[in-house]
Amino acid sequence: MPVLKSLLMSLSRNARLRRVLETSRLGRRLSSRFVAGTRLDEALAAVAACNGQGMRATRDHLGETGDSRQQAEAAAAAAAASLNAIAERGLQCNLSLKLTQLGLDLSEDLAASLLLQVASVASRHSNGVRVDMESSAYTEATLRIVERVHAMSLPVGAVLQASLYRSAADRQRLREQGITVRLVKGAYLEPASLAWPRKEDVDASFDQLAEQMLRPDGCLPDGPLRNALATHDRERLMRAQRFAASMGVRPQQFEFQMLYGIRRDLQRDLLKAGWQVRIYIPYGTEWFPYFMRRLAERPANLVFLLRNVLAA
Ligand SMILES: Cc1cc2nc3c(=O)[nH]c(=O)nc-3n(C[C@H](O)[C@H](O)[C@H](O)COP(=O)(O)OP(=O)(O)OC[C@H]3O[C@@H](n4cnc5c(N)ncnc54)[C@H](O)[C@@H]3O)c2cc1C
Repeated sequence: MPVLKSLLMSLSRNARLRRVLETSRLGRRLSSRFVAGTRLDEALAAVAACNGQGMRATRDHLGETGDSRQQAEAAAAAAAASLNAIAERGLQCNLSLKLTQLGLDLSEDLAASLLLQVASVASRHSNGVRVDMESSAYTEATLRIVERVHAMSLPVGAVLQASLYRSAADRQRLREQGITVRLVKGAYLEPASLAWPRKEDVDASFDQLAEQMLRPDGCLPDGPLRNALATHDRERLMRAQRFAASMGVRPQQFEFQMLYGIRRDLQRDLLKAGWQVRIYIPYGTEWFPYFMRRLAERPANLVFLLRNVLAA
């Protein structure tokens, strides 16, 4: 399986395959399992459906790099427009975005100033912006930018990856500034010099960080952004629930998060147990890298998707 995983991750950077799939009907059909649509209104319909089932949502406009200043500014304007649309429709949904979309590859100051603009719109709507974490090449710059914008009393939060050795120190650093964290395992292939190579170690790191976030001094107050444990791993979810209950943590003090289309059974179980659940809803025409990362996480998905296509 690790070979297939690496192959899928390297295919996620294949421009030709990307062009073919993103522009074909077959590609669109394949991706619909994990991607809510190509347009904002399709994403907001998925958000409304989640809200109807008692779950909150976070909207992610797929499109990973703002290669020019204009593209980065357009991405920020689109993010602001979707915050307005969410507010107009009265949806329970915040924003997730990547700083490379806001021009981080061009300049840290540009990405920071565009994040500030988007976060200001979020603030006006009593909403918030969760800054996704990309590969380790961006970790430090991403945290610096989140800290800069948060220091201006704007509603931004960070993501930490349990796979990285540095995340324990980063959690402490963010906690001291009152910045909320979404904890994930990490979706990027990283070298052993920076990240735990073995899954068992990543799982142990996730449990440890989750417990720190659930301790009385780790839970942050209710607001548009809360501390979040984002995983579909039943064992991690069971442990976190047991630990939260033993600490007397109330459901309003943190949330579980899962990706659109993945483990709906667990989403329902968490809701039934009385916890808060938020679903990450991606949409957009540039869905290929996101889709390939989801396949790489569970290569068995490939068989499942191909079987569905052949059966149709
Ligand atoms: C809300 C949310 C936001 C995220 N944001 C980021 C981010 O900003 N940066 C980042 O690096 N990563 C992010 N991720 C991805 C994360 O890092 C993992 O790659 C992803 O969640 C898979 O890991 P897992 O915790 O579910 O555990 P795994 O050990 O990978 O999986 C546990 C079980 O979950 C199910 N499962 C997991 N993935 C899939 C899948 N693709 N298809 C079907 N079943 C699956 C399977 O049953 C599997 O056995 C995010 C994840 C979530 C849920």
